[in-house]
Amino acid sequence: MKRTLEIGGVSGLLTGLVEQKLGHKSLQTCLGCSACSNVCPVSGRAGTDPCMLLQLILEDRQEEALNTPWMWYCSHCASCFSVCPMSIDIPSVVHLLKSFSSVDMLPLPVQQEIEKWVATGNSCSMYPDQYLGLVAKAQDILRKRTGLKDITIPIDKKRARLLLLIDPAVLKARPSVLADYATVFHLTGESWTLPSSPFGTSDLSLITGREELGELWLQRIEGLASNLGVDKVILDDCQNRLSPFGPKDGFKKELESALVTSIPFLVFDYLQSGRLKIKKKVRMITTFQQPCSCPDDQFRTLIRALLERLCTEVKEMVVPVENSVCCGGGLLRAGLEEQMEAFDAAKALQMEKVEADAVITFCLTCFLQFIRLKGLGFIRQSVLFFPEILSSALF
Ligand code: SF4
Ligand code: SF4
Repeated sequence: MKRTLEIGGVSGLLTGLVEQKLGHKSLQTCLGCSACSNVCPVSGRAGTDPCMLLQLILEDRQEEALNTPWMWYCSHCASCFSVCPMSIDIPSVVHLLKSFSSVDMLPLPVQQEIEKWVATGNSCSMYPDQYLGLVAKAQDILRKRTGLKDITIPIDKKRARLLLLIDPAVLKARPSVLADYATVFHLTGESWTLPSSPFGTSDLSLITGREELGELWLQRIEGLASNLGVDKVILDDCQNRLSPFGPKDGFKKELESALVTSIPFLVFDYLQSGRLKIKKKVRMITTFQQPCSCPDDQFRTLIRALLERLCTEVKEMVVPVENSVCCGGGLLRAGLEEQMEAFDAAKALQMEKVEADAVITFCLTCFLQFIRLKGLGFIRQSVLFFPEILSSALF
């Protein structure tokens, strides 16, 4: 007996709801070619893969599809989508399956991450005192670097042009990253501010399937932006519903009170308009981790062009980019570290093949995952967040 499912006020059986979600890109067009499974880093885990999952849905085996633990291995990296000849949006199908899991069916680490996030607004359970302490540390670094003993990192400044939301996990791992952002804003004369409380920039709804978390996350950002009266918000996580290069389709949203952008876009504008000048290229061969939710060429071209202006040489990771765009960090953010083996192995192999001194990351989740990989001894290269290499080229 199949359950009638309900989502967003619409009820029906899984096949119908999937068709509705996918719109004109119907699951019925699936060729069963397994191209998706061939690139999926977690194919074969829990005895299944994306192609098999789609066949279950097509064969109307609803309960098997809804109960497969495989969905929790999927990081929504979109590698499958990028190679599917029929452009079937598999990550959205997996997201839909996750959204039908009742809270008690969620893996325990996911439940714990959600609880932490709801209680504190971030996944580190960081409270304002600790956050402000880290901001003060970054301010000290900024003062030493610029030689300006009175320079401050603005907090809750009204009507600034930019609101920078830096995830507390980044601040905790490397507080100097905030000094790097502040250096760029100082040199451009940018009007900016931080919020006075830590804000988790990861939109956990994607990886957990809990739409209500995404709504809460959006409301919190909207509240911050409209209270402070800023024009733009910068988020340091790519895989979210507000990101200019995050997942496409109906998942995408816009803020009512401000525009959302990302540091590479902003820096590109600064350089184009002459507001920011590169002093010297950093003598370093770099490679870069392309944010997984944008496996198209447009963003890769932009970030590659930026890096070519900042360092002496840029190398692409060796394997076909669309085959392994994901670092697996989404699972880390959802507390599912023990399920990251396949991503870790793929990324370690890829990094072994690329002759570079450092890997540059543009997304906080990638940054944290690469720091983790480095800590585990899986990669030998230095790991830098984009603002770090940028500020090195400015002095
Ligand atoms: S989004 Fe990534 S992890 Fe999920 S099914 Fe597709 S390739 Fe696999
Ligand atoms: S790549 Fe696309 S068409 Fe081929 S099996 Fe996967 S979903 Fe179906």
